[in-house]
Amino acid sequence: MSKRVMNPATRTAAVALAAAGLGASMVAGAGSAFAAEGQAVTPIAATASAAVAAQAETQAKVAAQVKAAATKAAATKAAAAKTAAAKAAAVKAAAAKKVVTAKKAASWVKPVTSYTLTASYNQGGAMWAHKHSGQDFAVPVGTPVKAAGAGTVVKAGPNGGGDGPAYGNAIVVKHANGTYSQYAHLSKIKVHIGQKVGAGQQIALSGNTGNSSGPHLHFEIRTTPNYGSAVNPAAFLRSHGVGI
Ligand SMILES: [Zn+2]
Repeated sequence: MSKRVMNPATRTAAVALAAAGLGASMVAGAGSAFAAEGQAVTPIAATASAAVAAQAETQAKVAAQVKAAATKAAATKAAAAKTAAAKAAAVKAAAAKKVVTAKKAASWVKPVTSYTLTASYNQGGAMWAHKHSGQDFAVPVGTPVKAAGAGTVVKAGPNGGGDGPAYGNAIVVKHANGTYSQYAHLSKIKVHIGQKVGAGQQIALSGNTGNSSGPHLHFEIRTTPNYGSAVNPAAFLRSHGVGI
């Protein structure tokens, strides 16, 4: 309790409160309050301003936090967008790759679907004057023979289509980039010279005609339409994504 003497106005107020019938303790309390108030006018103001400052600081902090959160959210959003864009690009790239693969797979096919590989390219033997000029696929007579790639028929007929009797009934198809495919020992030819064919399109039935030791398809890849320009057909097909 302050030792200061209450100023008259305060005293009057205290007396008035007492006179109004309030309890003594209340009066005393009121007195304390007045005394405290008298002492603490400046501190209270200081406290108030400090509180205001603290509040302002808190508000600033909150604002900063909100801003930081917003910035973070924006950054997260941007990162997510970036990730999504990267993902989309990856998906697009994968799709493009798939298309290329599909295209490549469709451009060349095996000339027969089910077979047993017999004589291979360059193989020596009593059957050929020189080395074997193609790849043999052992198949029953009448097996569908397909164009290995898209092109135009340039030879079709007996006597190897003009290449000699050893081939029996044969077909030569001209492809892009100076490549030709040849199909020999056929039992039935189903195309004519000048006809355009697609990869995998049936062009003949296999057979055992010409100089043949048994039913099979003799298949060549040539760099010209004529006999003597053959390359390894198995390696050619493999380089175009077709394993045999
Ligand atoms: Zn052969």
